[in-house]
Amino acid sequence: MNRIIFATGNQGKMREIRAILADTGAGIVSMKEAGIDVEIREDGSSFEENALIKARGVAAASGDTGDIVLADDSGLEIDALNGEPGIYSARYLGEDTDYDLKNRDLIRRLSGVPDEERTARFVCAIAAVLPDGREFTVRADIEGRIGREQRGEGGFGYDPIFYVPEFGKTTAEMTAEEKNRVSHRGKALERMKEVLRENEGFDRK
Ligand code: IMP
Repeated sequence: MNRIIFATGNQGKMREIRAILADTGAGIVSMKEAGIDVEIREDGSSFEENALIKARGVAAASGDTGDIVLADDSGLEIDALNGEPGIYSARYLGEDTDYDLKNRDLIRRLSGVPDEERTARFVCAIAAVLPDGREFTVRADIEGRIGREQRGEGGFGYDPIFYVPEFGKTTAEMTAEEKNRVSHRGKALERMKEVLRENEGFDRK
């Protein structure tokens, strides 16, 4: 059984990823746990490109260990802001800026925008680099609206302002199970599991 190295340093993401990949039976380790410390410049122009850049960088740094490397690139696209923050979601207002500030800033920029024009989506692309060098990417999203206030304590990042009408709550108000079932990352990881199964990615050395 191949081990999976997931190329992220984000603890919130890693928690979700472990829960969603638990049924693969593969051991899942973060870059840090795999002892990999590389600076990777995410200078692609799409979520897919950035995910592949990360996965390739970590695969190169991990050497010939037989591990599968997965990486995701995700973000929030707000229609009324021409798709911002998009692929710059993590860097919006600065990488180390508190999400309370980022969220308040987005709410401020949308003041005066009516409910039906507050449409947005979380997008997630996942790239895989297999031990034999094959590469795959998948993408999924979840549609919602930007709220007028922050709500909920769960999740991470922009979850408190991402309202999902079908649930009547933000992704920060969902349980982890609810969010993983419908989220961009949950759906993309399910797709990637399928791709890896079809391509024997879980048991080839
Ligand atoms: P990445 O680590 O370069 O993929 O940056 C993704 C950024 O998008 C995160 O740091 C968050 O700001 C945002 N993001 C992605 N997925 C989610 C989510 O599920 N909830 C809230 N924010 C998210």
